[in-house]
Amino acid sequence: MTIDSHCHLDQADYEEPVDFVIQRAEAAGVDHIMAVACNPDDFEELSKQLKQHACLYGAFGIHPEYAHKQHDLDNLKKCLIENRAVALGECGLDYHEAEATHEQQQDLFQKQIDLAHQMHLPLMIHARDAEGDMRAILKQAYKAGKLTDGFVLHCFSGSADMAREAVEMGGFLSASGVITFKNAERVREIFAQIPLANLLVETDAPYLAPHPLRGKPNEPAYVQYTLAKLAEIKGVSVKEMEKITTENFGRLYLKGQQ
Ligand SMILES: [Zn+2]
Repeated sequence: MTIDSHCHLDQADYEEPVDFVIQRAEAAGVDHIMAVACNPDDFEELSKQLKQHACLYGAFGIHPEYAHKQHDLDNLKKCLIENRAVALGECGLDYHEAEATHEQQQDLFQKQIDLAHQMHLPLMIHARDAEGDMRAILKQAYKAGKLTDGFVLHCFSGSADMAREAVEMGGFLSASGVITFKNAERVREIFAQIPLANLLVETDAPYLAPHPLRGKPNEPAYVQYTLAKLAEIKGVSVKEMEKITTENFGRLYLKGQQ
């Protein structure tokens, strides 16, 4: 039994009802799925999916690519409460292809750090081409005591220094299909150094399908490929890695529910 700790069922264009995607995940031994909505236009769709499928956990947040728009953070808060979300995210910084300025992104990210802290929710963080600013913001938030409910750097592919700092602050690092890619030796070397207690595994579906399915639409059932690769990198059995990442998921996201 394993958990896909991050995917976007609301963004997927699977050409079939999401029920089938979930059934295939269950058949592949994925007993829980964290479904993430990070565009306010999709919040309602995820709310519906959460009501229909008991195997889903929900996360709501505003992705940095929408930071140039006006946002109603009261609505985000309401959504998190009404859907009993277990995380706020994904949120963060994306300097790769953002219409939003760096300042707009930082402002929205800070507001969501504050909201997560106020609501005692862990933060699910996206960081792309923004490592310096991300590390600075996280350090500052940590010093201010705002990260006490935990955080994860999802789909992690940053530097070894960033991974070490995150671990020192009690953060988690989530491995995506990227660790299975042929050219990702650097990322695998970094994951080899991360303590077992700080690891999660995810698909980020419908994006980033793992090898040997690279290029196809990704789905939660495929988390098994990434999990197997992570087990190999860490030198533990697949069964052991399932157990470790499931326990880690519980420690980060389900504290209030156990
Ligand atoms: Zn994502």
